[in-house]
Amino acid sequence: MAWQGIVDEYRSRLELSPGAKAVSLLEGRTPLVPLPRLARSLGEGVELYAKFEGLNPSGSFKDRGMTVAVTQAVHDGAQAVVCASTGNTAASAAAYAARAGIKCVVVVPEGKVALGKLAGAIAYGAQVVQIRGSFDDALLMVREASQRSALCLVNSVNPSRIEGQKTAAFEVVDDLGDAPDFLCLPVGNAGNTTAYWKGFSDELQTGRTTKRPVVVGVQAAGSAPMVLGHPVTDPQTVATAIRIGNPARWNEAATAFRESGGHVRAVSDDAILAMARALAQEEGVFCEPSSATGLAGFAKAVAEGAIDPRGKRVVAVVTGHGMKDPDNAMAGRPAPVTIDATTDALLREVER
Ligand SMILES: *Cc1c(COP(=O)(O)O)cnc(C)c1O
Repeated sequence: MAWQGIVDEYRSRLELSPGAKAVSLLEGRTPLVPLPRLARSLGEGVELYAKFEGLNPSGSFKDRGMTVAVTQAVHDGAQAVVCASTGNTAASAAAYAARAGIKCVVVVPEGKVALGKLAGAIAYGAQVVQIRGSFDDALLMVREASQRSALCLVNSVNPSRIEGQKTAAFEVVDDLGDAPDFLCLPVGNAGNTTAYWKGFSDELQTGRTTKRPVVVGVQAAGSAPMVLGHPVTDPQTVATAIRIGNPARWNEAATAFRESGGHVRAVSDDAILAMARALAQEEGVFCEPSSATGLAGFAKAVAEGAIDPRGKRVVAVVTGHGMKDPDNAMAGRPAPVTIDATTDALLREVER
């Protein structure tokens, strides 16, 4: 049977009002792409995979949570949704609101959102509001706005978002036949960490797996509140999707790291960009900088001897597609050359 999307494929395993009619773009069922070259650089016998969430309809894992959140919102009679966003939540909320035929308001930090994400939110017809402030400011604003109006909040503080996003863990188990030994992922607002841990915990409870993975969460060094142990007021990183100084799901994510025997760590922007480039050039997986952060941090942990992955299965969550952040993809790279329109000129150029 054709794929139904997250709500109808997993309805019996989601907390969702019975009978709620799915608002879906047939998200989910993303590939678990083997990364053999990068695996070799991590050590002997490492099995490394990317859960490539950039292949969801609006280009990030946010679609998994958004289909459930908007389905529930519409079932509850909502006429409008609102979110704060570093970009991907905005694009996703806008897409699902369009699908549902309801209004969408997105609040973003001015000048800090990748071009393709802003373009998405606008293309899907959302009302885009930029603020002179941070993501954390925006989240406070929309939390309060949703209390003072009929706007339904669809940030990952909304439990339906976690429900939808946990299905990525189910799919990993479907593909591997068990949980992996390690899961590494970027940590911004920490909703996705919370969701994967819930998903793997559900799987263990139902007996579909024999274990839960060790979870390694990774923040950018300039935006690493959970590593520092306190909120960061002016987070800075090239990885804009995780440029968050006070994660809303801090406690839940901390529980996941502790219970799994994992930890949260930080990596430099240079290491993030180098891993994004390695994923694209060595494996053909083009992701935005934030999405390479989990694997960049995992590789650093291995290099430092904090983790021994030899003979183990590792899943890196690659959270969003690179095409939404063209500026970072091209920054610091040579511009393409222009030549005369002759074959001789082309062959000269190729041999240079
Ligand atoms: C939202 C997002 C993250 C961070 O996820 P959290 O749930 O906020 O921790 C990482 N990468 C991308 C591409 C995202 O869109």
